[in-house]
Amino acid sequence: MTCVCGAGAGPLGECADYYHAILSEEQRDPGMWSWHAPVVCAYLLQHPADGHPRFLDTQYRWLQLLLDQGIDALVKVAAYQKARNRHGSRQGYDMAPFEKYDPLPADFPTRFRESFSGLPVADGSFVFDGHEAYGRRIGILAEATVEAFRSS
Ligand SMILES: [Zn+2]
Repeated sequence: MTCVCGAGAGPLGECADYYHAILSEEQRDPGMWSWHAPVVCAYLLQHPADGHPRFLDTQYRWLQLLLDQGIDALVKVAAYQKARNRHGSRQGYDMAPFEKYDPLPADFPTRFRESFSGLPVADGSFVFDGHEAYGRRIGILAEATVEAFRSS
């Protein structure tokens, strides 16, 4: 079985199984939360049929922001967007932090250097070797996603 992202299944199943397992582990482990946005963006960009097409452009820019400015900057922007939403802004997202990044290309890649089904899991956990190592792996996945779009 080959996934739409071009990857084969891993020990946990297909990419979707990995994605849902990560989201469910996040519920139990707040240490994983800072990487939530990159996980969601990378997954949906690699599996666009699972999300909403109109959000993909912003999701692509989130990953570029991560690669450009790092996870601490991304967490700050995410908190800012959330607070803005809470205050009942009708515009939703403030696109200013994302303006300098490339828009989503028209062509979707069908292959990525790194995939969700390739993420290591031990004893049912993605953070078996610590949050820092987990974050590094998600960063590499984000980088592989942007790289594939740039060369598509
Ligand atoms: Zn996949």
